[in-house]
Amino acid sequence: MACNHNCNDCNEKCEERDLKEKPHHMSSVKKIIGIVSGKGGVGKSLVTGLFATKLQEKGYQTGILDADITGPSIPKMFGIKEKAQGTDEGLLPNVSKTGIKIMSSNLLLKDETDPVVWRGPVIAGLVKQFWTDVIWQDIDFLFVDMPPGTGDVPLTVFQSIGVDGIIIVTSPQELVGMIVEKAVKMASMMHIDVLGIVENMSYVECPDCHKKINVFGDSKVDEIAKKYQLKVLAKLPIDPTLATLCDQGKIEDHHVHYMDEACEQLENLPVHVLNVAIPVCNSCVDEHFGKAEVFHVYQVVKGMVVGGIKVLMKEKGHEAVVASLKEHQVHVVLCNHIGAVASTLCEENGIQVISGKEGTALDVLYKYLGNFIEDDTSHVEHCGCDECDDCDCDECHDCDCHHE
Ligand code: ADP
Repeated sequence: MACNHNCNDCNEKCEERDLKEKPHHMSSVKKIIGIVSGKGGVGKSLVTGLFATKLQEKGYQTGILDADITGPSIPKMFGIKEKAQGTDEGLLPNVSKTGIKIMSSNLLLKDETDPVVWRGPVIAGLVKQFWTDVIWQDIDFLFVDMPPGTGDVPLTVFQSIGVDGIIIVTSPQELVGMIVEKAVKMASMMHIDVLGIVENMSYVECPDCHKKINVFGDSKVDEIAKKYQLKVLAKLPIDPTLATLCDQGKIEDHHVHYMDEACEQLENLPVHVLNVAIPVCNSCVDEHFGKAEVFHVYQVVKGMVVGGIKVLMKEKGHEAVVASLKEHQVHVVLCNHIGAVASTLCEENGIQVISGKEGTALDVLYKYLGNFIEDDTSHVEHCGCDECDDCDCDECHDCDCHHE
């Protein structure tokens, strides 16, 4: 298969996949969006906060990974002062009043005014830990608030976290063309989609006559967006109420709908789900594929389990089993013993077979997600019998397979 640099819908083992850091095994995140800007102070954190707030308001579960380690402003915006807590399992994000999960360097410092005076690699290492050691449970949208520019941290995030795309935040007084071009080029080098541009501080609206005034001159953002074939997702005014709410830690009390269309674009982003099936008997991998009565089908996104269903086999035998797995859009099956015919039938139906798996279904699943692929066909039995999977005939019993 030709590489499209999207590891989410591919099981191949390759260098690019190896660079991605494994998320915490209890994390489940469907979409990850990086928010970037050319320089500080253009409102990147505010836009991050607004996206998370608006989508949470719409009923999604959102989170913010504050990768702006030296200039973290997310906790303050949400009025979060408590330090982050940990368990034996991992680090827990703090939760805002509407349920947004947040992890930031400020939640780990003794005093939030303590400066972070660490060198680049240490900072980049902490950002990685925010991904690998934090339990991001049941998240529909995780926003990564990047530090400004195209330095060490954005590089680390793009390389090690499966970001679905980035949004560029600019303000009219920025050198928009150059900033956008740099971000677009970096994203393209890292094979990451640019989802669009948000122009912040685009205008002010007169409270009396509602006339829009372009304080920083006419906006160039539409022209630039056209040049790079990007969408302008939103144009936000300078809004003193918003600034006050942010200062008071009450961004979630802001109910103006500047971002509705931009949020819709994010809702429409596709999620690449890998369906992984395991034949299960008493929580363990069933000994034989064709005789299993129950399969667990797990939905995996970016190497994380985001859901699962139990599928009862109405009929036994490999043909019925494969038909049922196909109906449930299974991509990979992890099993113990499987006959050569059943294995071929799976492959013909686009289902990858990884056999020789023993132990509890969850252990097998998590090991698979840890290694992602392990080509082990040693347990595919070649007994020469076409019906080997589901037949009780003497021929099968005499063969070298594991039927009872
Ligand atoms: P960045 O993350 O790009 O460094 P911030 O999001 O922290 O920038 O914003 C810098 C300051 O400007 C904050 O105090 C924020 O409240 C304020 N601000 C940003 N955008 C707006 C806006 N549209 N209206 C009013 N104040 C804003």
